Amino acid sequence: MSHSSNPFQIAQRQLDEAAKVLKLDPAVHELLRWPMREFHVRIPVRMDDGSVKVFEGFRVQYNDARGPTKGGIRFHPEETFDTVRALAAWMTWKTAVVDLPLGGGKGGVVCNPKEMSQGELERLSRGWIRALGHYIGPDIDVPAPDVYTNPQIMAWMMDEYEKMTGRSAPGVITGKPLPLGGSAGRGDATARGGIYTVREAAKVLGIDLKGATAAIQGYGNAGQFAHKLAAELLGLKVVAVSDSKGGIYKADGLPFQEVLKHKQETGSVVGFPGAQPISNQELLELDVVVLFPAALENQITEENADKIKAKIVAELANGPTTPEADLILHQRGVYVIPDFLCNAGGVTVSYFEQVQNAYNYYWDEDTVHERLDRKMTTAFHAVHEAAKKYGVHNRLGAYVVAVSRVAEAMRLRGWV
Ligand code: GLU
Repeated sequence: MSHSSNPFQIAQRQLDEAAKVLKLDPAVHELLRWPMREFHVRIPVRMDDGSVKVFEGFRVQYNDARGPTKGGIRFHPEETFDTVRALAAWMTWKTAVVDLPLGGGKGGVVCNPKEMSQGELERLSRGWIRALGHYIGPDIDVPAPDVYTNPQIMAWMMDEYEKMTGRSAPGVITGKPLPLGGSAGRGDATARGGIYTVREAAKVLGIDLKGATAAIQGYGNAGQFAHKLAAELLGLKVVAVSDSKGGIYKADGLPFQEVLKHKQETGSVVGFPGAQPISNQELLELDVVVLFPAALENQITEENADKIKAKIVAELANGPTTPEADLILHQRGVYVIPDFLCNAGGVTVSYFEQVQNAYNYYWDEDTVHERLDRKMTTAFHAVHEAAKKYGVHNRLGAYVVAVSRVAEAMRLRGWV
């Protein structure tokens, strides 16, 4: 068995496993192993010093059998085409598992936003749309935020798209700022959706979460809101958090507001007064009840899977666990809430945002929360039941649910 850490090869291997369980038609399987369509572009950007830098950009439209392709854009120095392909495949399964009328896609740019000015970021964002704007649209392919992209970047992108097309089109992109057609509840949606699935997991496992411990790897949008909501909604005590620079640990709990303020002021959670320093690796191996990987791919591998002590692993990141680690965790009885289920809250509220944009009428936050809860809870139990029925680990259970929905749409369309 190959042990590649190439995310796209991992995504294909995961699908192959599901195809076996489902006895999938070979043509359906072959179509689903590859992106339907992909774009590779060069984006010239005028830098603040007057020079022009050429950035490499991607968009992968993986599968649109269930509806327009949907998924974020990442700005990351280590972005690769294969990472974007994997993330686009996972978006296809994600929209299917929560039963949204959407397909899956993903985009990226190889860049380091931490070293770029706001002006440079704006010109890069507009450049991405100039390169790809003709191939996206509210009923074609709808981008959103992801790692190191945010509502401001979505606003510039929407504006550039509207300039290109000469009409208002807020539904071309989601995760926008509220005054530009964003949805109430989109900001914390990824973490909130994940928290709802943890609540359901604790119910089926018979675990009392009140005062139970949690650790969070990653302190971007998902990690920060997980810290806030784990305490607020579940009464969890978050004892450790980390970001790309390192982590912090405090046995009697880390206060969210103060840690966030420290991160905003210093650029990292590291050095938070009164907490012990801890490495990202040590954080994953802490003896906590709930572990939230909320950073990047390939964090729980065959090297450390037998050291994970958490009872529930709630994957807010995309692709944090390798297939080898999945088997080890399953054998050891660790309950994994797989990424494309656990973090589907973001795209679910993105879908709500598109719906509101389309009829130009906006919901209040309570409505968003209630509808998100219903979607996540239904999806959680569909996956839990499928894993039980087929006697497989939860990720494979989630694949079984998602892949059979996409396959059915392809069959009904007469593609296969
Ligand atoms: N980037 C997020 C994800 O990976 C959200 C995608 C979206 O809202 O379209 O799910």
